[in-house]
Amino acid sequence: MQICRFNDNRLGLVDGDKVKDVTSALDVLPAQHYPLPTHDLMIANLPHVRKAITTAAKGAKSYALYDVRLLSPIANPGKIIAAPVNYKKHLDEARADPQIHHQNQIAEIQRVGLFLKATSSLVGPSESVTIRHPDRRTDHEIELAAIIGTRADRVTREQALAHVAGYCIGFDITVRGPEERSLRKSIDSYTVLGPWLTTADSVADPSSLDLRLTVGGEVRQQANTRDLIIGIADLIVFATSFYTLMPGDVLLTGTPEGVGPIKPGEVMDATISGLGSMRVEVR
Ligand code: MN
Repeated sequence: MQICRFNDNRLGLVDGDKVKDVTSALDVLPAQHYPLPTHDLMIANLPHVRKAITTAAKGAKSYALYDVRLLSPIANPGKIIAAPVNYKKHLDEARADPQIHHQNQIAEIQRVGLFLKATSSLVGPSESVTIRHPDRRTDHEIELAAIIGTRADRVTREQALAHVAGYCIGFDITVRGPEERSLRKSIDSYTVLGPWLTTADSVADPSSLDLRLTVGGEVRQQANTRDLIIGIADLIVFATSFYTLMPGDVLLTGTPEGVGPIKPGEVMDATISGLGSMRVEVR
């Protein structure tokens, strides 16, 4: 199943090149009281929501995909976790290019671990990336994003993938410079998720997906998730050895080689096999 959020917070079922408006499926969500949970409510109730989507889809109003404004498929993630340099060829390019490493030691992911991006940086494809510091190099990074479905604390490798609700395309937009990653990558709009959530049961093998990013039609990044240094299951094992993952938490699995600068006015097109394609403008 492919579930999107669109226009003014509508819920959509993606069906070929159409979106069915299944917003009424959200009526199954439990009422909330302050303090609000630190997880995403829809993902925490996804099995119920999916049933309701199937019912609501019958006779639902339908839109052409190209006619809707796509929002982040996850509205309220509690954490956005990201893997630094998790492809060997990106590690090599980062170490070789002073404009990327900025005298920061680029250590292997096994030593550096993971970092967090502010949830306030998250947008959907229709919202564009807005360059905050035009005087500084700002790079695109396409990544496979895994969305956590159920609470996960100190899980084993065998259990790990059962905690994934689904996958989408992620952008980890990055200002190059000497500051901490969490600062340079947390600028408003510097995390993009889209075009929709593809549920895990619709992804045959997340460790064999082609990723491709073009800027202005020129191919910049092209790789396959089989080349991840630490795979998705082991990233979850690693993350949950430090903190509990909650429904809706986003795990950005790292970017492959080919990162490069983006400028206002440019257009990024991204595809991951089986997960769809998205276009994101740079402003
Ligand atoms: Mn990244």
